[in-house]
Order: sequence, then structure tokens, then C-alpha cells
Amino acid sequence: TKSFALEYEKPECLKSPLETESRLLVSGGATNPYNRSFDALRLPMLGMMEGPAIKVLSDIQDGIRYVLQTKNEYTLAYHGTGTAGMSGVLDNLIEPGDKILIGVMGYWGNRVANIAKRLGGNVVRMEKPSGSRFFLNEIEAELQRHRPKLLFLVNGESSTGVYQPIEGVGDLCYKYNCITIIDVVATVAQQPINMDKNKIDVIYFNSQKGCGGIVGLSPVSYSPRAMSKIKRRQSLPRIYLTDIKEQADAWYITMPVESPHEAWRHSFSIPTLYSLREALARIVEEGIENVWSRHADTHRLFQARAEKLGLEHFVPNPEDRLIGTSMFKVPPGKDGYKIESYILKK
Ligand code: PMP
Repeated sequence: TKSFALEYEKPECLKSPLETESRLLVSGGATNPYNRSFDALRLPMLGMMEGPAIKVLSDIQDGIRYVLQTKNEYTLAYHGTGTAGMSGVLDNLIEPGDKILIGVMGYWGNRVANIAKRLGGNVVRMEKPSGSRFFLNEIEAELQRHRPKLLFLVNGESSTGVYQPIEGVGDLCYKYNCITIIDVVATVAQQPINMDKNKIDVIYFNSQKGCGGIVGLSPVSYSPRAMSKIKRRQSLPRIYLTDIKEQADAWYITMPVESPHEAWRHSFSIPTLYSLREALARIVEEGIENVWSRHADTHRLFQARAEKLGLEHFVPNPEDRLIGTSMFKVPPGKDGYKIESYILKK
């Protein structure tokens, strides 16, 4: 046998077992997945070009369409977290110089403005103070004034706990010949989205919040209107991994299932895909309308208990409050970080 000389020793930290603790996660970031979704991670591996693996992809597409209530053909999941969806849809839709009107009412709108600028977009910010949201007449006034090619809004601004209604926004974008992009990370499978009925062109979210899955995938859906802008591009999107035309081949939207080798773009994380498939199947089992009412009931109970404790809401108008993310002010004289770590442990 051949012996190899090492320059560096084994890392001490990896000689002991992995340490973790049991948590009930209901905060921002990830929540505890549905058991069915977690258990799916241990199912037998499949080769990614086999029939059963290809069926998992098609099940996921139908599940995403169901939770968003859309028939969009270009519906799939990018590998990566919600941020992959966020930068991916912007990369597909922004050509250098394209004007994009961005609603900024907290951290996430600001993040999108940052990414859009990196992509060479002509960014116009429409701002609201923390704790409030945009009204249709305000959005229309900005569309009329700036005539952007794209409009971006966050449906659930999880940094402030604000819900931004999207009813009527699609109609406005049809009127002003503009493509709507909506972040539904903090609202999907918690509050109705109704993508087709609301005429929304592009949506992204992630697998680990209302969807009840494992972190690692970012579902996206593009309307035919959005796809026609993308197909008319003069330049290629800059990032290969989230190029929707490449991914449409990989997910057999534009490539027949009989030619998996031609469809191949990159390795798929089969266990993560199983897990999303099972999270979506769990939602299908309960019925999305029942999932929405379960969240609404929980929200009402939670708010009532918090009010009883004397906590003050951060978002003044009850109708502007998100269902899945509740914001309260730190009581005067108390340490917010101490409260947070108490809640996490208890
Ligand atoms: N948008 C919103 C509204 C979010 O709350 C988050 C995550 N907290 C993201 C985007 C980014 O998603 P991810 O952390 O999965 O990248």
C-alpha cells in the first residue's frame, strides 16, 4: 500500500459528534418542516435522469402551480434559497438600462434595489416608512411618472411585519405595459396569492417557510407575458444556474422527457427535491384554502395572547399586519436580545 504524507492534521472539531438541540422554530429564517417533508430526506437516492426522478420534478411543478393558483408553464424551483429566486428573476428580467420601479418599505425591498443596481438596472425607488405599505393610487402615480419596464413589490415585508396587498397591481401593470415581480417568501401558503386572478407576472419564494419544507430550493413562476420579454432579450442573463430558459430545459418544460441527457444542465439535489415534493403533497392533502384558514386562526390567537400580555404592535393598522410574521415593540426598559433568547429556549 502507498502511504501519503499530510501537511495538516485532522481538525479537532470534527472528531466529536455533531451537536444540536431540539427547537420549535417559528421565527424568520427557517421553520420546522412538516414531518412528511423531513422524513423524505432519507428516502432512497435515485439517478437524476431516471423516470421516477423526472416525475418528482413534474409533481413539484404542479404543487407550486397549486399553491400559487396559476397555470404558468414556466414554473419550477431553482437550487438555492429564496435569494437565488430573488436574484434569478431579476437577472432574467433586467437588461442593462431597463427601468425598474421598486417598492421599498423595509429590508427586502432595499435588498432587491441593491441587486437590481448590480445588474445594471435603472433603479427608481418608491419608499414608505417602516410599518406602512403602498396604496394602489400611489403605485399608479409612480408608474405614470416613471413608465418603468418592471415593477417590484414585497407581498410580505418580514422585516417590519407588513402585508402589502397585491390585488389590482396586475391590472395597473397591464395598463402601463409593465411586468410585475412579487416576492411572496413571507406570504406563500399562509395567505392567498392567486397569481393568475391577480395578473401577476413573476413570483419567487423559498421552500422553508409557509411551504413547510427543507431550506435549499426557491420556487419561481413566470407568466407568458414575462417569458415574451425574456425571449426578446438582446443579451443573455448573466447567471447560468438561474437562466429560466436553461432551467426550462432541465425541468423538461422545453425538452422532451425522452432525452434526459440533452436536458441535463447541472446535478439536482434529489433529497431536497423529494422533501419539497412531500411538503407540497402535505399542503395538497390539507387543501390550500384550509392551510390559509389554519394560519389565519393561529394569527388571531397569537395576537390576542400577545395583546393580553400588554405588548404593543409595531404595525399600527391591523389590516396591514402579516399573518405569518408578527411584530411587537420591545417594552420600554427591556432588552430585546434577552427576550429573543428566552423565547428561543422556552
Ligand atoms: N424575501 C423575504 C420577504 C424574506 O423574508 C426572505 C428571508 N427571510 C427572503 C426574501 C430571502 O430568502 P432566503 O433567506 O431563503 O434566501
